[in-house]
Amino acid sequence: MIKVLRLGHRLGRDARISTHCGLVARAFGASGIVYSGDRDKKMMDSVKKVTGEWGGKFSVKYSSFKSTIKNFKGTKVHLTVYGIPIQKKINEVRKKRDILVIVGGEKVSGEIYHMADYNIAVTGQPHSEIAALGVFLHEYFQGRELEKRFPGAKLKVVPLDKGKKIKRI
Ligand code: SAM
Repeated sequence: MIKVLRLGHRLGRDARISTHCGLVARAFGASGIVYSGDRDKKMMDSVKKVTGEWGGKFSVKYSSFKSTIKNFKGTKVHLTVYGIPIQKKINEVRKKRDILVIVGGEKVSGEIYHMADYNIAVTGQPHSEIAALGVFLHEYFQGRELEKRFPGAKLKVVPLDKGKKIKRI
C-alpha cells in the first residue's frame, strides 16, 4: 500500500499543482493522498470528484505533516533533489510493503529530511513534485501501474488512434 503526503499546500496558489499530485498518485497506483499546509476543501473535492467518476478506491485527507509521518506504520520516502539517486535505492525500497511517499511544496522544512527513512532524488536536477511522484511510482511498480483497473468507474476512455471518445458506464 502506497500513500502520498503532499507538504505545504497554499490556498489560492497551489490548487492546480496539489490537484495534480492527487491525480498522479491515484492514476499511478497509490491508494490515497494526505494534504498538509492550508486546508483547501475545494481542491480536495476536485480530486475526490475524479475518483467518483473514474472509479477505484482512493482516499483524500487533510492532516498535519508531523502527525501523518509519525503515525504512519511503514517506510517513509521523501522525494528531494538533495537525496540519493532513485536508481541506487529503488530495489531496496521496492521490498517494503507500506510506503508513505512525501513530496514537497515551495519550501520544505529541514526536519522532514530526518523524519524520512529515505531521501530520494529523481535526477539531480530541480523539477517538480508531480514529475518526481510519477517517476517514483513508475519505478516502484515497474510499469504494472499502467494496467491498473479502476472498478466502479462511471467514465472510461475508449483508446483511439486519433480523436477522443469517452464511454459512460
Ligand atoms: N525548494 C524546495 C525545498 O525547500 O526543497 C523544493 C521545491 S520543488 C519545486 C517541490 C518538490 O518537488 C520538492 O519538495 C520535491 O518533493 C520535488 N522535487 C523537485 N525536484 C526533485 C528531484 N530532482 N528529485 C526528487 N524530488 C524532486
